[in-house]
Amino acid sequence: MSDCIFCRIVAGEIPSERIYEDSDHLAFMDIQPVNMGHVLVIPKDHYGCVAEMPEGAVARLFAVANRVALKVQEAVPSDGYILTVNNGQAAGQLVFHTHVHVIPRFRDDGLRHWGKREIGEGEIRGMAEKIREAMRS
Ligand code: AMP
Ligand code: ZN
Repeated sequence: MSDCIFCRIVAGEIPSERIYEDSDHLAFMDIQPVNMGHVLVIPKDHYGCVAEMPEGAVARLFAVANRVALKVQEAVPSDGYILTVNNGQAAGQLVFHTHVHVIPRFRDDGLRHWGKREIGEGEIRGMAEKIREAMRS
């Protein structure tokens, strides 16, 4: 997709700081890192979001992302890391070519965790039933 910024990075039309590549994946430094060592891992094929990917491709993408994360941790010693995907605009996705964020976390790095909601036990049970039903179909 010529208008997709990450496809253009894969094609080498836009510069990037590449750190890993195989036949199906590319990992490169995020241009606006949340923390030191913030890397993006993408499939070379264009998928707008994870929901569009075949299950096997999702599994392989996360396996590569975790391997990259372990190496990032070696190079940029951290106290932990986040592997995350923003899936859909409402979830904060800005670039619509699937990417896994590898974000090193440091004690006291000041990043805020997401908040918690007050939801009653009955509501949680109701939600669980709906999801279980969806899982069965
Ligand atoms: P998201 O909000 O999950 O879609 O994240 C998009 C990420 O892509 C952001 O963290 C951006 O900083 C990053 N990004 C956007 N353009 C580039 C680029 N040309 N090179 C590297 N990272 C980029
Ligand atoms: Zn793309």
